[in-house]
Amino acid sequence: MKISHHFDDATLMAYSAGTLPQGMALLVACHLHWCPHCRERMHATDAVGGALLEQLPPSHLQTDAFEQLLARLDEPEHELCTSVPEAYANPELPAPLAQLLDKPLDELPWKRIGYGVKQLDLHLDGPGAARLLRISPGISVPHHTHGGNELTLILKGSYNDELGRFCQGDVADLDGEVSHQPLVDTDEECICLIATDAPLKFSGLVGRLVQPFIGL
Ligand SMILES: [Zn+2]
Repeated sequence: MKISHHFDDATLMAYSAGTLPQGMALLVACHLHWCPHCRERMHATDAVGGALLEQLPPSHLQTDAFEQLLARLDEPEHELCTSVPEAYANPELPAPLAQLLDKPLDELPWKRIGYGVKQLDLHLDGPGAARLLRISPGISVPHHTHGGNELTLILKGSYNDELGRFCQGDVADLDGEVSHQPLVDTDEECICLIATDAPLKFSGLVGRLVQPFIGL
């Protein structure tokens, strides 16, 4: 897999600090599963976070802090999983997403939200939204801007928009200022994972027609 589009530093910092909404954190974990380049960057980001912590003034600890630390050292290490158990219904997907889906992609309850576009809401807890979007060849998603940040990870196929060409493993890391209109540019359908910290806003007539269906 050749990955050309990665996250902004700010997104990796937020992931490292644990401040991303659940859907965005899931998407970052999925890209890290596939992308050795961003895994390297994550190690560097974690190191910067550790160095900053060392510069903080000391504060009082709870009396059992040392025991708690020893207990945590005994826990198994949380390694980034880069292989997917065969038993998953969709072993071709990154493990953090594959473990959420109990059926093969074709058997999941997709909802049609426009001509050639289907969506599957992942119904994660907390702020923002996470969904899978399945777009047929030759179809473009309505022009839209974002009320907040939007992360997209291409799981299958590819698309083109004002920002370039995005293929399997690539991420688009967009803030609220960017307006774009992805077009599926081959004869293969495109499936992506999209996570936002606010609902999408569509512009244009088609967008306003689709908005009541896609808006969360
Ligand atoms: Zn990457």
